[in-house]
Amino acid sequence: MVYYDAAETLSRVEIERLQLERLRASLKQAAKSPFYAKHFAACDFDPASVATLADVRRIPFTTKQHLRDSYPDAMLAMPLSEMVRMHASSGTTGTPTVIYHTQNDLDWWASLMARCMYMAGLRRTDVFQNMSGYGLFTGGLGIHYGAERLGCLTIPAGAGNSHRQIKLLTDFKVTGIHIIPSYALYLSAVFAELGIDPKSLSLRIALVGAEPYTEETRRRLEEIYGIKAYNSYGLSEMNGPGVAFECQEQHGMHVWEDAYLAEIVDPATGEPVPDGELGELVMTTLGREGMPVVRYRTRDMTRFLTEPCPCGRVHRRIDRLHGRCDDMLIVKGVNIFPMQIERVLMAMPEVGQDYLIVLERDGYIDNIRVKVEIRDEYFVEDMRQLGALQKRIAARLRDELLVTPKVELVERNSLPKTEGKATRVLDMRGNGA
Ligand code: ADP
Ligand code: ZN
Repeated sequence: MVYYDAAETLSRVEIERLQLERLRASLKQAAKSPFYAKHFAACDFDPASVATLADVRRIPFTTKQHLRDSYPDAMLAMPLSEMVRMHASSGTTGTPTVIYHTQNDLDWWASLMARCMYMAGLRRTDVFQNMSGYGLFTGGLGIHYGAERLGCLTIPAGAGNSHRQIKLLTDFKVTGIHIIPSYALYLSAVFAELGIDPKSLSLRIALVGAEPYTEETRRRLEEIYGIKAYNSYGLSEMNGPGVAFECQEQHGMHVWEDAYLAEIVDPATGEPVPDGELGELVMTTLGREGMPVVRYRTRDMTRFLTEPCPCGRVHRRIDRLHGRCDDMLIVKGVNIFPMQIERVLMAMPEVGQDYLIVLERDGYIDNIRVKVEIRDEYFVEDMRQLGALQKRIAARLRDELLVTPKVELVERNSLPKTEGKATRVLDMRGNGA
């Protein structure tokens, strides 16, 4: 096995020793910020008192609201003049939050990102096209600097403009891409329209992340494009991409534990869940100097995978994300994650590349309607067959969800498209829902 960084070969004991050392330094650094000075004082916490990793649990969580309240710069642990870049979260769930970086922070981030890309099999000889939005979104510059650090010829294509994306992919014999899953599905339909088989390109590796998707979607993408697709997880508060990444095993994502301290807690109680159980990921930066973030509640639901990874890296793996705790829908008293719906749909060959979940209220009763894009070749079939397909999809969804959704079959390209992360749920239940 070849590694990009010696940190990948650390043993469990070495990782934990390094984590403790970095945690202590990082908490001391955090205490220099107005926010953490107050946060620590409020619970009588002294960073110098940290003797074990578990001591971190004495510190109350940092939440998205804390970051918003600290707007614009109350979490800075160094003078603003030391900062060289800022990013903001894409604001999927409300007001964006701002994260600042020093030059050291950016270097560290780029090397983590390069490590991920190397692990996925990319090398300096690859031609890499980054198809995510640039600007404040970290999937742009974050991935970009990682690819350059690795030495790839890097094409900053940005989001959208599918015909140009395809032209770049073709003309420059691109071998690696970064793409969000909903766009990758959409782009495959554009390829089909143009009569180009994506398998005829030089593409071999895709880094796919920034939003939840299922194993079924990954398989679909690998088949359509003739590539290997690796899951990529990150969030602005922890830099952005480069936090956790799949190795060649494609089974769970290694969290870089020399850079982050990861915990998984019960979202209701805040207490750690036993290893292997589902909970909310909580993360602490161990290497960031400009704006350390301590015990950040990501709201992302996952579990630690407990078996050792055959790749030899002992950095702990997290399972594919189930979505955010606030993505969970409650319909007729049943908890539903949009990814359960995607899993069913993407496993059915008749289903096209897009879907939309609509929540409706009928009097006092909540209903769930799933609009499903159907492949062209199935849409021309007669009404009876379409009716049967509709029933089959509804039945499979009912088996998975335990409530029966209304299923509506729609033609390709008839669902609304967004440039960035896909909107999977439309809530039409009115206020208070
Ligand atoms: P926002 O919170 O506004 O979307 P970010 O751009 O920081 O801003 O997005 C980070 C979030 O994106 C994560 O907290 C997670 O919910 C989601 N995400 C990122 N990568 C993945 C992935 N591979 N699988 C599932 N969700 C992901
Ligand atoms: Zn591995």
